[in-house]
Amino acid sequence: MITDFHTHYYPPELAPRALRGVDDVVEGDADGTLGGLKRAMRAAGVTRAVALPVCAKPNRESAVNGYVESTASADIIPFFSVHPYSDGAPDLVRKYADSGLKGIKLHSNIQRFSVSDSALIPFWQAIKSRNIIAVFHCGRPGKTPTEHDVYPSDFLPLFDILSPSRTVLAHTGGYGVTDDELDVLAQSGAYTDLSLAQSQFTVGRFRAALGMLSPDRLLFGSDSPWRDIGASLNFVRSAVSDPKLLDKILCENARTLLGE
Ligand SMILES: [Zn+2]
Repeated sequence: MITDFHTHYYPPELAPRALRGVDDVVEGDADGTLGGLKRAMRAAGVTRAVALPVCAKPNRESAVNGYVESTASADIIPFFSVHPYSDGAPDLVRKYADSGLKGIKLHSNIQRFSVSDSALIPFWQAIKSRNIIAVFHCGRPGKTPTEHDVYPSDFLPLFDILSPSRTVLAHTGGYGVTDDELDVLAQSGAYTDLSLAQSQFTVGRFRAALGMLSPDRLLFGSDSPWRDIGASLNFVRSAVSDPKLLDKILCENARTLLGE
């Protein structure tokens, strides 16, 4: 059973605009809809996907989460989004967590927040109180750096509140990650997903990066529809020759994190 821990899709009428709205090329063949994701999953032999919605503006949670929540199934695990600056954001986190959703996605570039903003402490405490998984986008959002780009070292103060073992710092620490930041990621105890790896590493450098990180903290992810699931899977397979490690990346670590 292969789990893709990093996917997105949108209501069909919004998908074309959502795909154009990110400063990155679309290399996947998915069209940004749930149907497109499921076709890409089937073609790649991926059993299930974690869906990561992002509420780009405050106070839009019900539309964003309502759609993703309605698509939950045996092969789709929806996480939720709360904008950190929405009215009553900590209460919203508790509400969605109590409805049974297993995790929250946060994107400092799109949501324009700073992880070090002390006004957000109650928000982080709400996430901690429900022991849900927090997935953070790391690195540049696309081709162009922004003032809200974050790398693993930016999260160290947050780990006074959040548990690293319930946190995913996505994209192998982010586009443009350095060896120093990979070291911080390794020491932090946080998970990372390997989405976008084929866009930022050669196979050799990816192999070296994986060697620096804990084998128990690596999750397969594609970032579909921006990347092709099958191509992402092939890239991971090309860098990982140990079948036990591959099984952890594709299957076991996700099951542990999801509490299965
Ligand atoms: Zn993504």
